[in-house]
Amino acid sequence: MKYRDDTDQFLYEYVRHGMTPFFGVPSVDSSDPASAYLGARVVLLGIPYDGGTSQNPGARFAPYSVRQASIFAVNADAIGRLSGRGAVDGGNVPAPPRSPSAMRELVEHAITGVLSAGAAPFVVGGDHSVVLPILRAVAKRLGPVAVVHIDAHTDTATPSEFLGGDPYHHGAPLRYALEEGLIERGQLHQIGIRMGFDAALTREHAVNIYDIDEVAQGVRPLMERVRAAIGQRPTYVTFDIDAVDPAFAPGTGTPAPGGLTSREAIALVRSLGGLRIVGMDVVEVLPALDHADLTSLLAATLLMQGIAALGAPGEPG
Ligand code: MN
Ligand code: MN
Repeated sequence: MKYRDDTDQFLYEYVRHGMTPFFGVPSVDSSDPASAYLGARVVLLGIPYDGGTSQNPGARFAPYSVRQASIFAVNADAIGRLSGRGAVDGGNVPAPPRSPSAMRELVEHAITGVLSAGAAPFVVGGDHSVVLPILRAVAKRLGPVAVVHIDAHTDTATPSEFLGGDPYHHGAPLRYALEEGLIERGQLHQIGIRMGFDAALTREHAVNIYDIDEVAQGVRPLMERVRAAIGQRPTYVTFDIDAVDPAFAPGTGTPAPGGLTSREAIALVRSLGGLRIVGMDVVEVLPALDHADLTSLLAATLLMQGIAALGAPGEPG
């Protein structure tokens, strides 16, 4: 890559590498994924992009903030799990802030690199628009997958609801994922929902919606049903932090009161153990609206639980 000047080089390096690796795992140069990810089961990536945001911008800073907070989510057990899974930090996908199509291309390419190396991507967004190119890469490799989508919103809005901008904004990625056939019919499981229900789309694609009132009846029994419905299908997990109540996760751009407690959120991700997880993201963390890094720390904790739910070689589930 050619740099215009030193500032350009510095900005690129800053965006590319962030400040500290996730959970302190080895940081690798991902320009040659096949060798950089050799032997890794987990590749952590940041996508500092919020060009798909409809309200408060700033989620592009989440990878830096979650990396910093992730240091506090590490304990001895976690270190064992991370090294058992050969986790590495592949840096950030350097998505240009105002080019949604370039972001999609770069993200799809980056995720393809991870999957081709036989590893599972664990991603910090970014706004939720980053999940569409992730799912495109996943489906291209594995065919239509099961998706567990934890969110306050269904993210199935139509383009016309967004004032004629780029249609692939953060309120619509699951609509496109369904329409593009990236998700197996009947295998989109949306959990924690309290906004954005589209009856026709839900019927057409046999979407399973577990709204927040259902979640409040008990995370574990609910997740038993979800696990039974998914079976051993390859499963991608996308966690929009606004599923969590703003009291626990204030640092997000489209807060929706009446959400999960942080304990429920953690229990929910823990309950994914036993599924065949092929990747996970946590999106919509907005550090500038956070307090005391609560939201970043929760995001890091959820990611860690997701990695723990991923079976290690020789470990059940
Ligand atoms: Mn949301
Ligand atoms: Mn979302």
